[in-house]
Amino acid sequence: MNPFEYYKTLGIDEGTFDLGEKTEKALAERFAKIDRTAELCQLKAIAAMQKNRVSAECFEASTGYGYNDLGRDTLEAVYADVFHTESALVRAQITCGTHALAIAMAANVRPGDEILSPVGKPYDTLEQVIGITPAKGSLAEYGITYRQVELLPDNTFDYDGIRAAINEKTRLIEIQRSKGYLTRPTFSVEQIGELISFIKGIKPDVICMVDNCYGEFVEEIEPSDVGADLTVGSLIKNPGGGLAPIGGYIAGKKELIDQCAYRLTCPGLGAEVGASLGVSRSFYQGLFLAPTVVASALKGAIFAANIYEPLGFSCIPNATEERHDIIQAITLGTPERVIAFCRGIQAGSPVDSYVTPEPWAMPGYHSDVIMAAGTFFQGASVELSADGPIEPPYAVYFQGGLTWAHAKFGILMSYQKLKEAGLLP
Ligand SMILES: *Cc1c(COP(=O)(O)O)cnc(C)c1O
Repeated sequence: MNPFEYYKTLGIDEGTFDLGEKTEKALAERFAKIDRTAELCQLKAIAAMQKNRVSAECFEASTGYGYNDLGRDTLEAVYADVFHTESALVRAQITCGTHALAIAMAANVRPGDEILSPVGKPYDTLEQVIGITPAKGSLAEYGITYRQVELLPDNTFDYDGIRAAINEKTRLIEIQRSKGYLTRPTFSVEQIGELISFIKGIKPDVICMVDNCYGEFVEEIEPSDVGADLTVGSLIKNPGGGLAPIGGYIAGKKELIDQCAYRLTCPGLGAEVGASLGVSRSFYQGLFLAPTVVASALKGAIFAANIYEPLGFSCIPNATEERHDIIQAITLGTPERVIAFCRGIQAGSPVDSYVTPEPWAMPGYHSDVIMAAGTFFQGASVELSADGPIEPPYAVYFQGGLTWAHAKFGILMSYQKLKEAGLLP
């Protein structure tokens, strides 16, 4: 069958198909570079698995206390090798990215200490963890103070401001790599390295923690390669490779990771307990697939920017710049377009494709939000997914795509829906 026929069956017209072909062809060189990074990250994962003698026994489930869980303990050694750290905690008991970050922070500060974010506001959910927004159980309630230094107007680090903010109480630095849902650029690993060197030059014993969500395997190196003491992320994003059904990881210095284990379980028990309940195989296989999954998601993000930017929609990152995470923001300018875009992504999904998403008042958001998520795992944003707050500037944020073919198709569906609704400029 002629390739267009496959797309036609799924509702893509010839004009949309041709635009997709032309756009993809023009990106060949960039895609080859992404494939090269994936290849090197793939080899990192294989080398770590071979070095730690991953075997079929590692996929067995432990139950109850989970003492002597070979699979879990070996996986943690594998993560430590991939991230080039002394140790790692990789657990199904870490419920999400926010939880992993909360553990890493809470475990390594004590009353009277201060946390500093030198890159402006941290991710929304951390506001309550830290107590920037008052919340029950926040670190503020335990006498931990917090300070942040904004980025300069050109989005570079305010080195003078950071120097002035570091004091005798400063114990932990929180550096968020990805822009998340802000409009600042995502930092490269190299930029993070420069920031860490600067901070350690002022206070060598401070703990530098990097929120690595959405950043893993986008580059050949990770924040842990440039001086981060703790590197933290979620397994339903990049490193879970679409197969991990839950989980988070923290990789870093052994004494800091030990503290995290005591905080995750309890003092005295630490990493010794925590049954894997049969998820180990998906954690290993997901890590093994993660570099190519991330490459697919990256290609999708770049493809989308190259479809929408020429139509006059502002894209962050833009169509040509280098990528440091898998998130793509597109400012569509009207609520109707945001809705049509998300409906296209949903209609292109393998799961729940027949569902029509509607904007709704989600808890924690100040406007209605429309979400498209035809995912195998709830909220797994390494899978192709999109969300758009129904408020100016009417931007959609989308990310993921377990395969390039799906990312391409989903984005073409979004374009098709906009076209059919007469919403293209
Ligand atoms: C997703 C994300 C988090 C939180 O992860 P959850 O799994 O949603 O709790 C934290 N920081 C950044 C930058 C993220 O993208």
